[in-house]
Amino acid sequence: MLGREHLSISVATVIPFIVPLVFSGNVEYQLYYIAFLISVIVGSLTPDADCGGKPKLYYDFKIVYDIMIPLQKAVIIGFKNLSLNYELNLEHEVNNRHRGIMHSPIGILISSLILTLIVSAVVFLIYQKINMLMVSFVFIGLLFGQFLHLLEDSCTVTGINWKFPFGTKLINGKIYTFPKEKGKKDIRTIIYQQVLWIITVLLVLGFLFDIIAFNQLTLYPLIVVSVTFVWIFIIATSRTDYGFWYQDVKKIKAAKKTARKFSK
Ligand SMILES: [Zn+2]
Repeated sequence: MLGREHLSISVATVIPFIVPLVFSGNVEYQLYYIAFLISVIVGSLTPDADCGGKPKLYYDFKIVYDIMIPLQKAVIIGFKNLSLNYELNLEHEVNNRHRGIMHSPIGILISSLILTLIVSAVVFLIYQKINMLMVSFVFIGLLFGQFLHLLEDSCTVTGINWKFPFGTKLINGKIYTFPKEKGKKDIRTIIYQQVLWIITVLLVLGFLFDIIAFNQLTLYPLIVVSVTFVWIFIIATSRTDYGFWYQDVKKIKAAKKTARKFSK
């Protein structure tokens, strides 16, 4: 999946959780949800630092990219030289390849931890104090952003080995990152973003028309259920192969143009 697709699907997944905080009127939340959102955005691009070429991360967050490259090397050397291969009875060799260790649960955990430590160290050097709640939000944001990246890549043909390097549990779908047929585009990634954004639109309307309130106990469980439901839809449809998913690029462009006209 392309960087910008990772970014928009991940942002559309977490925005519903932030909307109630925005409408809560409590300014103290602001700093936390902004830090969380930025961490999710960075996290959603981080695993592709292993892709060989220059990913979106390189252009948008070069500093994170520059940290990830040696970090990935260090993790690989760690696995090779600490005889972890032998001790952990690893099924796969950890080496430098795309969708290897940095595209696995253990890899995203290590990189989220190290990136959080670096951010905390820099913040501490500047302000001489540390806000543990903020640190947790940064860590959870990075981890969740990277987890979403793995989920998204699980919808593509190459898929993700969720047990890497301890075993094999390949989850994949039928979405090609680059179209199989010239002039056609798989519209699923566009549909996924739009369906996720519907949750945000409904929430905003609910708050604007006083249908929902921030201190409503059912609010967050409802958001969790809705987002999970959409994600089940995403994973399920990514495994199908209907002709409908592949539309003419020209038609898509025309539809986007009319949509833009309407919104003006
Ligand atoms: Zn990826």
